[in-house]
Amino acid sequence: MRKIVIAGNWKMFKTQAESQEFLQGFLPTLQETPEEREVVLCVPFTDLSALSMNLHGSLVQLGAQNVHWEESGAYTGEISGPMLTEIGVRYVIVGHSERRQYFGETDTTVNLRLKAAQKYGLTPILCVGETKQQRDAGETELLIMTQLEKDLVDVDQTNLVIAYEPIWAIGTGDTCETKEANRVIGLIRSQLTNPHVPIQYGGSVKPNNIDEIMAQPEIDGALVGGASLEAAGFARIVNYKV
Ligand code: PEP
Repeated sequence: MRKIVIAGNWKMFKTQAESQEFLQGFLPTLQETPEEREVVLCVPFTDLSALSMNLHGSLVQLGAQNVHWEESGAYTGEISGPMLTEIGVRYVIVGHSERRQYFGETDTTVNLRLKAAQKYGLTPILCVGETKQQRDAGETELLIMTQLEKDLVDVDQTNLVIAYEPIWAIGTGDTCETKEANRVIGLIRSQLTNPHVPIQYGGSVKPNNIDEIMAQPEIDGALVGGASLEAAGFARIVNYKV
């Protein structure tokens, strides 16, 4: 049995006050959520401490959006694994396409961050996926295989989640056709040594397409950007119907 993991990625949205308002609307809706679904909120660093207290005892796990590979040091603007675990963070997104595109993240640094996350007891959510240009050029499979090969060197596959996020589907409303997402995720699984790694789909997941996405046999959850910012919408996603 593979675990189902539904994670929200708030990116650089929500002040502390806004995150509290979200929780007031969101937490009561979890009464309907089957216990076996892991619900994660990956929030800005400034929201982590307060959310950690508010989520204590709830079904929701706390996630960060980045982690550095060193335990501490002169790395202005970075955050370390022990700093995150100390305040109750359990998950961390690594290698999101926005980090790769805007902040110079490479497969080498992604690999270092993945190993550090695991070393300090966090579960990394590794993001992989192709651009529109790469898809149109028929390079999707090769690109993803290469990312996996480089990113996963010496990474423990027993404490890992992977998100297949076609870049052209992120924040565009242009969801990948569900059967195609299922196919690529099956391909990703075939490259892993551990077949039990949960593999999510990410890219314009919305309340109106989550049921169809989760009906696909290879898809074990979703990484949700924009639609995780609104409590009722994210609640509908988390409480998807089978
Ligand atoms: C994301 O940020 O990982 C993402 C998939 O965003 P969106 O759901 O808005 O496409």
